[in-house]
Amino acid sequence: MDSSCCNEFDVIVIGGGVMGSSTAYQSAKGGHKTLLLEQFDLLHHRGSSHGESRTMRATYKKDYYTKMAMESSKLWREAESEAGYSVYTSTDHLDMGPAGSASLKAVIASCEKNSFPYQILDHGQFNDKFSGRLSIPEDWIAVYTELAGVIKPTKAVSMFQALAFQKGAVLRDNMEVKEIRRDEVKGGVVVCTTKGDKFWCRKCVVTAGAWTRKLVRSIAGLELPIQPEDITVCYWKIKEGHEEKYAIGGDFPTFSSYGDLHIYGTPSLEFPGLIKIILDHGCQCDPDKRQWRPKPDLDSLKEWIEGRFLGLVDGCAPVSMQSCMYSMTPDEDYVMDFLGGEFGEDVVIGGGFSGHGFKMAPAVGKILADLVLTGHADGVELEHFRIGRFEESPK
Ligand SMILES: Cc1cc2nc3c(=O)[nH]c(=O)nc-3n(C[C@H](O)[C@H](O)[C@H](O)COP(=O)(O)OP(=O)(O)OC[C@H]3O[C@@H](n4cnc5c(N)ncnc54)[C@H](O)[C@@H]3O)c2cc1C
Repeated sequence: MDSSCCNEFDVIVIGGGVMGSSTAYQSAKGGHKTLLLEQFDLLHHRGSSHGESRTMRATYKKDYYTKMAMESSKLWREAESEAGYSVYTSTDHLDMGPAGSASLKAVIASCEKNSFPYQILDHGQFNDKFSGRLSIPEDWIAVYTELAGVIKPTKAVSMFQALAFQKGAVLRDNMEVKEIRRDEVKGGVVVCTTKGDKFWCRKCVVTAGAWTRKLVRSIAGLELPIQPEDITVCYWKIKEGHEEKYAIGGDFPTFSSYGDLHIYGTPSLEFPGLIKIILDHGCQCDPDKRQWRPKPDLDSLKEWIEGRFLGLVDGCAPVSMQSCMYSMTPDEDYVMDFLGGEFGEDVVIGGGFSGHGFKMAPAVGKILADLVLTGHADGVELEHFRIGRFEESPK
């Protein structure tokens, strides 16, 4: 390729959230002339990758994510050491739920399959460990693991963008891509923005988050079942004098609860004296017509907080709420695949991260860059992430 032409690239990545930024970093690191296009300002707060904290954990019901999280954890540390600063603080992790819970059984099976160390705590052992801070009902158990932590999302996205830039990538914001088409004359892909800019590339990666369905529909006429959901992040006040018990840096873990509801949270970090505890589901939304006035039904969450936190966290009402989007697939597995059709293997889609993608961003960026540049991603069981699965099983 003639690298003197400023509008021609080896790889164009569309979408500057964590997945696109990590992919651009991997592509540029491999020596490929890379362009990252973002429709809004870089580090905006209108997608899925902004905010103050994301959980890192390796316990998953599906064992291929445990393996991916172990790999990702190493890659986070590598990227941090290249950048020279930290975005990820290690903690332990706790999964809790009724002793017979299918979710917990699957988590344990996944740990076993991956030889990932874990400890099961019954009610008594749990109380010994968390006495005075957290409690579970008598018929619940917990799975305790060590590879976990809290990642600072906006700082992490900015880190990948800085690293990509350092390796020679071009980053352009306020560039909404409206069309991607095959270049019938010289091959490759032409990418056009709503402002009339036109770029050419050999290969293209679409990481458009909650906009993936809209964009893929308009560029390829393909309907991907990726449904955006508006999620409300809630911060709750720790009662005065008890803040240290839940602060990061001690032994309070990140946690997931698998009772009737899936609830998760992180130790107190971003706002001293507050703790993040969230319901893992939201309301379907259109990413271009959001309400910005989330009114989640928090009754069950309040009850859970009162019960589990022994009255030391004020469950009356959250003191702060933020809005963010998940991009849900029907099976909650990611989409990482070639777009196919006229684009063959020249366009790769990375989307549908279903509310559990952030921790995997370093691994996902590597997979997407490898896929688009070489046609394969070694050591990754891609069948779980193929677009074709939606046709085979419409659920
Ligand atoms: C409240 C909340 C809590 C979460 N907690 C966790 C957690 O604890 N652990 C975890 O692992 N994950 C978590 N996640 C999920 C994780 O944050 C997401 O999976 C991840 O951020 C998705 O990143 P993305 O790059 O795919 O999407 P985004 O960050 O939305 O990036 C997509 C980008 O594409 C841009 N774009 C779209 N269309 C175009 C276009 N046409 N042209 C140019 N640019 C375009 C968008 O503007 C956007 O910037 C959470 C998510 C939320 C909302």
